[in-house]
Amino acid sequence: MNSKIEFNTKVIQKLEELGADKPCHRCGHTKIEFVGYSKQELGDSPDNMDYDMPVAITACQNCAVISYHALIPLGLAPADEE
Ligand SMILES: [Zn+2]
Repeated sequence: MNSKIEFNTKVIQKLEELGADKPCHRCGHTKIEFVGYSKQELGDSPDNMDYDMPVAITACQNCAVISYHALIPLGLAPADEE
């Protein structure tokens, strides 16, 4: 299994372990899928966005609402590029 798939599996397992596997909060559909990663800009004011927070993204397969899960608080900081 390659490292990308292993990391994706770790993220999904962690979310399930924490109970983040409930139906969609918007439409109640039960099919929520992991779709990938992004970086969310953070800062202490709108003109000082100096930190990129890595996030995992899940999406409802019915209404397409997106949820972000910050990786570092979950203990899943992405590995540095090799
Ligand atoms: Zn939905």
